[in-house]
Amino acid sequence: MLTKILSRDACADCKECCVFSRYDVWEQPALSPENRRKAEALLPEVRFISKGNESSLFRISEDDTEDLFLCPLLNTEQGCLLGEDKPFECQIYPFQIAKIGNRQAIILSPLCEVVMQKPVGVLLKFLKTELAEKIFSYAAQHPDVIRPYDDMSPVLLWKPRNFEES
Ligand code: SF4
Repeated sequence: MLTKILSRDACADCKECCVFSRYDVWEQPALSPENRRKAEALLPEVRFISKGNESSLFRISEDDTEDLFLCPLLNTEQGCLLGEDKPFECQIYPFQIAKIGNRQAIILSPLCEVVMQKPVGVLLKFLKTELAEKIFSYAAQHPDVIRPYDDMSPVLLWKPRNFEES
């Protein structure tokens, strides 16, 4: 989804967004029921907790987070085991959708150094022409992907007040 602004090679070299610490493990992507079914088939040993109405997160224990918690679906050689079927939040990362007050906005995770270095104009043009409508529409159908605002990530684009959900 993001190959126009973020190369697959850059992601393969980094994988930062698939690794969590004790303090941000809640930032795991929301697994849709389909993502969860595939994860269960691939990794029968993993356990889940529910998130929101329809989503799941990986269940982790205190021991898992002593150092860093790698998403169980991350294969350090092959990348994400779900491939093109990875969770929506992973498909749009480093863009995220957040609730700020009573509005929604697309924000940019500062952890992605490659995209953070792009001019804002380039990112806005990409969002407006390629991605924003998909994000807002998906979030309207699957609100579990809407995260609380972290008071840190740059806000790029507010959801238009007259946005028609498709
Ligand atoms: S689901 Fe895949 S892309 Fe998403 S955090 Fe896990 S390994 Fe990374």
